[in-house]
Formats: sequence, structure tokens, C-alpha cells
Amino acid sequence: MDLLDTLTAKGLRGDVPTREEALAVLATTDDELLDVVAAAGRVRRQWFGRRVKLNYLVNLKSGLCPEDCSYCSQRLGSKAEILKYTWLKPDQAADAARAGVSGGAKRVCLVASGRGPTDRDIDRVTDTIAAIKDADPAVEICACLGLLSDNQAERLKAAGADAYNHNLNTSEGTYGGITTTHTYADRVDTVQKAHGAGLSACSGLIAGMGETDEDLVDVVFALRELGSDSVPVNFLIPFEGTPLAKEWNLTPQRCLRILAMVRFVCPDVEVRIAGGREVHLRSMQPLGLHIANSIFLGDYLTSEGQAGQADLDMIKDAGFEVEGAGEATLPRHRSDVAAAGDSCGTGGGCGPCGGHGAATTGCGGTVDEAAEPAGTEEAAEAAGDGLRSDLVRVRRRGAGTELAPNA
Ligand code: SF4
Repeated sequence: MDLLDTLTAKGLRGDVPTREEALAVLATTDDELLDVVAAAGRVRRQWFGRRVKLNYLVNLKSGLCPEDCSYCSQRLGSKAEILKYTWLKPDQAADAARAGVSGGAKRVCLVASGRGPTDRDIDRVTDTIAAIKDADPAVEICACLGLLSDNQAERLKAAGADAYNHNLNTSEGTYGGITTTHTYADRVDTVQKAHGAGLSACSGLIAGMGETDEDLVDVVFALRELGSDSVPVNFLIPFEGTPLAKEWNLTPQRCLRILAMVRFVCPDVEVRIAGGREVHLRSMQPLGLHIANSIFLGDYLTSEGQAGQADLDMIKDAGFEVEGAGEATLPRHRSDVAAAGDSCGTGGGCGPCGGHGAATTGCGGTVDEAAEPAGTEEAAEAAGDGLRSDLVRVRRRGAGTELAPNA
């Protein structure tokens, strides 16, 4: 297939495809799917070998957000019966982080709901980072606290944070239909602030919210242009009690095509399968590892993932290996530019990434393995009212509870 030969050649060189080529990946047929995965897999192995980076989420503050992101179970007016609690104490967060690191995670993602942190909140996160790094200085810390004000990124950097997550989520053109309480430009500004302070930029998207192929390509090219070092690809978990509860638009095949498109556009960037992995890829999760080089271990912010041991077994069974704490995630040329404060390697124009955790990860769910698949006409019919509460398990363990974390 000429398209895949072209995309593979470009990806192996680290070159960017055209918009038309990216759109063509999303338009491939099921007959072509394994060829698409194989082509993206060659690019993945060129830059990341067979390593899988594990990331672990700690939800520092859950629910009760004043913002109205439609995909988010923690949004203003959400009827989702999620855990709601205010800031974890540093030792509580460190305990949760330790569980993830013991399970194999090299990065801990500290997430808090809300529009953005106060300076007092930055103090809390500073103390939490110290508690985690005192126990294990090798742990990477990514903060995800919403929109940043002036000097807050610098304070997080000084506290020892390695990265900041803030997702763009969707295209600029459709952003206003998803959230009204802040803008796409606000998100771009926060990623630029984080990047300007020397934090590694983590910013991604959510697929499955009713967007077009053009929207998906737009947001991935925007992330590339902004210089995200890590691109979390979320598949919407239509959480009951949120406006998008009936948006079951994804199939495993569609998810694989989206991951492949992201890999071809961002060949040497960490591509992470984020929230919705279990719900939408289901038994096809191992094929996703041939494209992405990073996943979350265990549970998400407000929903449960598959058992942490099942994540580890899947990686091993598929012939991959967990990336060690001493191994660099990014190829050397990207690490060098990141260290120089230019993570996109274009000499400028880097910026925004990240969305706020709830989407990226907080809306994640888990699969009831005995349940019928979602994202299909059969599933939609089975849903009846369009809801699939059988597939989305609200998190009831780990941070904010008395029960041990899933790691
Ligand atoms: S994504 Fe973040 S800002 Fe948006 S509603 Fe959820 S917690 Fe609030």
C-alpha cells in the first residue's frame, strides 16, 4: 500500500506526514487494519523499541469542579456518583504513589480537579512532590492542576516537577461545543507557561466526542506544533451523569486507526493510551501496544481500570517490556532539545499540551469482561437508553478511600 510505505518511510526519518496522509489513515478499511498497525509498529520500534512506559495516577482532589467540560465526571453539575474529596495530605498521596511505583510505574501524575491552582495549592503540591521524591528521587512527577497563573509553573519546576499535563482535547474549531467556561486559547496558554518554565509538556486529546476526522487531525497537528513530549490519547468514557453519556462512537478498529494516525504525525513522541483503553479497545489492547509506547497502570481518576497485574501480564504476553527507571523514554535528540527548553525541536512555537486530568484519565473506565462490546450497533441497541453503565465502573478504591490502590 503506497500510503503505508510513504508513512513508514517518513516516520522512520522522524518526518511529518501531510494532512491528507493523516486523514487517509483514518479512512482505511478493516481489511487494511493489520497493515496499518504493522506500519505504525515499525515507526514505534524505531524510536521506542519494545519498551512500555507505565504512568500512575494519583487524584489529589476529586470532583466538585466549577468548570463545565462535557466529557468530565467531575464537572459542574455532574450527576456521576464519583468519589468527591478535597486535597489529599502529602503522606496520603505519597502512599498512593508508592503503590504505583512498586507496580512498575516510572512516572506519577498528580492531578487535581478545578479551574486552576491557587498559590496555596501550589504549596500543597510542592509538599507532596517532596514527600514522593524523598522516598524515591528517581520517580518522574507530572502535575496536572488546570490552568496556570503567572509564576506557578516556575514554582512547580523548582519543587521538582518534571512535567505538566494539560490536554488540548479537541480541535480549536470544536472546543467551544465541549466547554464554555474556558477556551482553547486558555489551554494553549497554560501549556506554553509550563513549557516556558522548563517543564516537559504532556498534552493530548479525547476521541469519541462526536468530532470529525478533520478535527482529530487538527488537534494532533496542533499538539505536534506545540511540542508536546507526551501525547495521551483518551477514548471517551461516556460517564452516566455527564452530557456525553450517550456518545458511544468508537470501535476497537477506530481506536487503532486513531492511535496509528497519532504515531505517524508524532513519530518520535511518547504516545500514551490513556482513559478508555479497556472500555473501547477491549481484547484489542495488545495491538495498541504495537503503536503506543506508554499506558497508565491500574485505575484512572474517577473510574477503575483493569487490574494492575493484568496490565503487566498483557505487556509481557505481547512481547513488550516495562521501561525501567534508568531508561530514557524519548529518543536522544528529543531529550536534548527538551533539556534545552525546546521540546518540539523546531526552535520555537512549542506550547500547550495538556488538558485537565479528568478527561485524559479521569473519565477512564473499565471493562466488564463479561459484558457485550460497546461502540457497535449491537452495543447501542443493547444499551437501550444509550447508557452503558455496565462498562463504566466508578473508582471505589485507592486515593480518597480506605482501600488499597489498584497497581
Ligand atoms: S476536565 Fe478538569 S477543568 Fe474540566 S470539568 Fe473536569 S476537572 Fe474541571
